[in-house]
Amino acid sequence: MTRVSRRNFLKTGMGLTAASVLSKEKNLFGGVQGSTGNDMCVIASGNGIRATEKAMEIIRQGGDPLDAVIAGVNIVEEDPNDTSVGYGGIPNEEGVVELDASVMYGPTHQAGAVASLRNIKTPSKVAKLVMERSGHVLLVGEGALKFARAHGFKEEDLLTEKAREIWLKWKEAMSDKDYWLSPDEKKIMAELRPYIEHYGTINCLAKNGAGVLAGVTTTSGYAFKIPGRVGDSPIIGAGLYVDNAIGAAGSTGFGEANLRTCGTFQVVQFMGQGFSPEESCLKAMQVVADKARLQPRLLNEDGLPNFGHSFYAVNKKGEYGAAGMWSGHRYAVHDGKENKHKEEAYLYKRK
Ligand code: ASP
Repeated sequence: MTRVSRRNFLKTGMGLTAASVLSKEKNLFGGVQGSTGNDMCVIASGNGIRATEKAMEIIRQGGDPLDAVIAGVNIVEEDPNDTSVGYGGIPNEEGVVELDASVMYGPTHQAGAVASLRNIKTPSKVAKLVMERSGHVLLVGEGALKFARAHGFKEEDLLTEKAREIWLKWKEAMSDKDYWLSPDEKKIMAELRPYIEHYGTINCLAKNGAGVLAGVTTTSGYAFKIPGRVGDSPIIGAGLYVDNAIGAAGSTGFGEANLRTCGTFQVVQFMGQGFSPEESCLKAMQVVADKARLQPRLLNEDGLPNFGHSFYAVNKKGEYGAAGMWSGHRYAVHDGKENKHKEEAYLYKRK
């Protein structure tokens, strides 16, 4: 696939709906990597290969798909080496780890979420309790922590030594107008780049043989974010959406762009109109890209989005697909036979 030229991009963006863009200029999009139907299916972001394995194991044993995906992402939440989710996540600008998570269950169309939750390693489990044991959908900050405590969650310091050291380097290198001194600012900024520009988060979606759909999204959000910042992950319709009559969708990447377009709600609506999961992810991504064009600070020198984002989807038939804003990303999928990584489709090819 060729990269979209600025002229083409401008031509295709303005005044066209994403649907017309897709049908008229299908060749703009990378890959067609989607699938045929599967009785059972679990799909996750690229960092979720252990989650898809675990979730499929539970589903095969007759476990509930929501319990299955939560058990899957718990592996990553509890992993100190994953610096973008749960324990070990890179902290906010004050050095405190704040977590966001959401769950949604198809058969009852119920959802639960927590945002800016501190001190609890597995926010996805708290999100499920918000769904099951409260009359609310979203609890934040101190209230979410009190709710977790009431349910017996153990409080722990989520800041690992590795994450603290990364944060300290960032704090020292950020400004030459304060009293925090950095030994070698240039070198340190280069070391920090992967954390500043890297999006993490895990999303995991599942369908079992009885057609039950469920999903979870969990993250520590952006490295060095302003305390209290909430991304798309815990917002139903942005980071996660499930409609048991149609399908499920999740997202990772630049949360602010997705929050403004309700991306996963759109992915599911496109699937409801008959588009495949992969096409639906691409169409929702086109909307994100089109809206980003209205904000120059979100564009690169070619007039294209200067951020990454991915959508993942599975429909009622067990077909699945994923798409990124840019090429070069993988997602994890277990189709009931095999657990593997696959290339995401994409809107734009990286140079
Ligand atoms: N979407 C997440 C957020 O905005 C970040 C990520 O996926 O890395 O918090």
